[in-house]
Amino acid sequence: MPTSSRHHWGTDMDLNNLNNTYFEKGTGLKLYNWLLEHAKTYGFNQVYTSKINGRTGYNMEKWHWSYMPLSEKYLTFYNENISYKDITGFKGSEQAKTIDVIKNYVNGIYFW
Ligand SMILES: [Zn+2]
Repeated sequence: MPTSSRHHWGTDMDLNNLNNTYFEKGTGLKLYNWLLEHAKTYGFNQVYTSKINGRTGYNMEKWHWSYMPLSEKYLTFYNENISYKDITGFKGSEQAKTIDVIKNYVNGIYFW
């Protein structure tokens, strides 16, 4: 949804494949295991993890990684400056408040 994607901040990226199954075997698994072990060292975090512990929003995305030193600042700025009056002007924008996109999606992330 426009105004709610972390990709717009320039701090988040998708790697290699947009399918979790790619990261469950072969090269994808090797890459994913490396990321789980080392990404934090370089400031990266998988923000869309399993929702088993109550995380809300997007389903698990093993391909989506966020550069936390910057994205944490952007999230703070977002929460202090963006409200539902800013999420307008496109088809579907009327659903933003219904699904509580700010609380459930923009803030529905896993922190280390
Ligand atoms: Zn992504």
